Amino acid sequence: TPIGGRVSLSDLPLREDLRGGTPYGAPQLDVPVRLNTNENPYPPTPELVADVVAAVAEVAGELHRYPDRDAVALRTDLAAYLAASTGVPLTHRNLWAANGSNEIIQQVLQAFGGPGRTALGFEPSYSMHPIISAGTRTDWLPAPRRADFSLDTAKAAEVVAERRPDVVFVTSPNNPTGQSVPTAELKALLDAAPGVVVVDEAYAEFSSRESAITLLDEYAGKLIVSRTMSKAFAFAGGRLGYLAAAPAVVDALLLVRLPYHLSALTQAAARASLRHADQTLGSVATLSAERDRVAAALADLGFAVVPSDANFVLFGRFSDARAAWRSYLDSGVLIRDVGITGHLRVTIGTPEENDAFLAASAEVER
Ligand code: PMP
Repeated sequence: TPIGGRVSLSDLPLREDLRGGTPYGAPQLDVPVRLNTNENPYPPTPELVADVVAAVAEVAGELHRYPDRDAVALRTDLAAYLAASTGVPLTHRNLWAANGSNEIIQQVLQAFGGPGRTALGFEPSYSMHPIISAGTRTDWLPAPRRADFSLDTAKAAEVVAERRPDVVFVTSPNNPTGQSVPTAELKALLDAAPGVVVVDEAYAEFSSRESAITLLDEYAGKLIVSRTMSKAFAFAGGRLGYLAAAPAVVDALLLVRLPYHLSALTQAAARASLRHADQTLGSVATLSAERDRVAAALADLGFAVVPSDANFVLFGRFSDARAAWRSYLDSGVLIRDVGITGHLRVTIGTPEENDAFLAASAEVER
């Protein structure tokens, strides 16, 4: 046993509300085909790698100093990217960045949620929304989706008006189900919400729908759009998430962020990666086409496939999803059991990976 190993979790003076909880835990297994965490399957190009290395080498000589606490250069680059892709003239004052959009969500809940406050989300959705709510002691209010997993926004607006949560989460496209919410429908929710509405657009680049960023001016102070470089940007290991909102929202987050939370290395690497945005995002079209191919092939095999606007597909039905997940793993294909009865989620990989997944799907017990 390691030093201190005789003490177990239940021996610790842990907060009561954290006792018995389960940590986020997508398995990280070394198998040939990994299609379980919605990453971009294409590694950075040699040119991008060289640019990251050069950018990191440049800041390495300054590592005795703290980084730019406000990451202004990076936020300026992110604003330029979003402005170009949405047509909304954002500046760095509309942008905030952190170590993954998980940290963005945590900072939002630290500022707008917390003890005595509530956050509401439409389940099934991204499992970290309730987990980060718990960590910040924000009471979680689960609200339903339709049986087909789409969001009934009229009903959702009624629930929001009735429960009056301080924070509402709308994931669009939704993880793990894949559908996105049209901006016209989001308005009903925004009108009903008394607090802030976080539209989690982690997978926005894979969707053909308009971004909620186009509503930012109309709903300034209420709407927060979170994004990440982990998916389409193929930068999951770099840890860079960001949000677009009114400058006052950024001012609020400054009150809760840890000073120097974004390392100089992260800022430099993210900026280098953003310089290759056009090239990296070129994979999005390939992945969307592969998603449609995989969805059609699954349907041909007789599976029920939930329509997806993202880089993953939820499908079923299995009489025992856990056993089916195991059987995929035994064939060398790691996908995700997201805890939805009878369903599994597969991330879209390279054509070869998708073929391996489809071959396993033809064999799997339903
Ligand atoms: N939001 C959603 C909907 C996600 O699926 C994920 C990643 N699984 C995240 C946020 C967080 O990603 P990251 O912290 O890597 O930006």
